Amino acid sequence: MGRNGSNMLEVKAEVARRDFESAATLVEEKIKSLRANTPNLPFEKTKLAEVEINKFFYEGKTVDRIMIVLRSNGCQHYKTNGGCSMCAHLNGAPLTEKITHKNYVEQWNSVLDGSFLEGEKREFSLNDFPVVCVYNLGSLLNSEEIQEETVKYIFGTLNAYKGVKKVIIESRAEYVKDEILAAIKEVYDGVVEVGIGVESTNYLVRELCHHKAIDDTVILTEAVETLHKYGMKALAYVNFKPVFLTENEAILDAIKTSVECFKKFHFDAVSIEPTSLQENSLANFMYELGLYRVPRLWSLRDIIHGIYDHTGSLKLDIRLGGYFDEEVLSGSQGTGFTERNEIFPHMTSSNCSHCTNEFVDAIKQFNMTYDVRDLDLVKPCKHCYSLWQETKRIKDSRSITERIHDILGKEWYSLWKLSVIFANGNLNIL
Ligand code: SF4
Ligand SMILES: [Zn+2]
Repeated sequence: MGRNGSNMLEVKAEVARRDFESAATLVEEKIKSLRANTPNLPFEKTKLAEVEINKFFYEGKTVDRIMIVLRSNGCQHYKTNGGCSMCAHLNGAPLTEKITHKNYVEQWNSVLDGSFLEGEKREFSLNDFPVVCVYNLGSLLNSEEIQEETVKYIFGTLNAYKGVKKVIIESRAEYVKDEILAAIKEVYDGVVEVGIGVESTNYLVRELCHHKAIDDTVILTEAVETLHKYGMKALAYVNFKPVFLTENEAILDAIKTSVECFKKFHFDAVSIEPTSLQENSLANFMYELGLYRVPRLWSLRDIIHGIYDHTGSLKLDIRLGGYFDEEVLSGSQGTGFTERNEIFPHMTSSNCSHCTNEFVDAIKQFNMTYDVRDLDLVKPCKHCYSLWQETKRIKDSRSITERIHDILGKEWYSLWKLSVIFANGNLNIL
């Protein structure tokens, strides 16, 4: 290629770089401005944020799982960069006060002695739950969010409960490091699974639509390798339908990402997480503008079929996140949706009012078997199936950066939002 040809390529690359950077800045600024509305609530630092039980598929059987959400300091990515576009877990974290090791220990001890239970008193033992999830609204492996001694304390006490077979925690990939995994291994000998937010393996989708801040997927490879070195399992979270994508683009992205998580990055399991809406998130802001709808449940069936078709497998460890028959044991500190908890979404992925419940039941069944035939049993709904098919045909010829510039690059939406509010007669969304 001549000198002029290579100059032209350099110019194009520079234009693309600037285009990406200005779009990324718009996304981050908007997310940060939305986060500024997060209320600073007076949480009790010694009380758990949430405890739920539900069914889970483990080693070929349906077992009881308990999910324990610690009231915690919140995600560092959220605090420094505004966090991911679909997440608003910081709504459940104290903004000015710090949860200390002592606070966490008190919270955890309330699980061990059953004193966290609200309502009717009942027998409670962790030994009744083969699967235990311990979440901290962020990364349990990041010592800036929760100290290593706290993590060690939790796992050390769990070791006495031989009825517990598997513990699931969550962390961003960059905190999956030898030191903290060795510390866990030293005190705990059961199975540990770490859920890692991948969201998308497509750079533009991940960095612009999710605002994930994973510049290079090499950290995913390293995280999975490190987990396997310690005999731990790696679970990939794949967010389905971030902002700025059409339904069909989102389906294709979720399929490709999940297949790559299994085949390229060697995750042991994938959990598809359909976007739900929490206050103060970019996804919620776009919804209020009328520019975003949560994904349709019919699409989940396409995704599971797509993954099985591309991997040539019929039964992988694929979960559909957010759909379990849960019983809430504790979580009344919340002021959010139905008085449950601030981290609960006010809207989740749905079809229409006629068939959503049936489809959600099918998803719950799927989560107990990972068998796609459970989803196939739902018959096309006469009210919304053809609408969903139409939705899948919607195309957007603009690039992702163009969409971002069109939507966030102008202040037109302030007026638009007002007109949406008046048209809906709903002042609550102000
Ligand atoms: S999705 Fe995870 S990494 Fe992203 S803001 Fe929420 S807690 Fe943080
Ligand atoms: Zn329907």
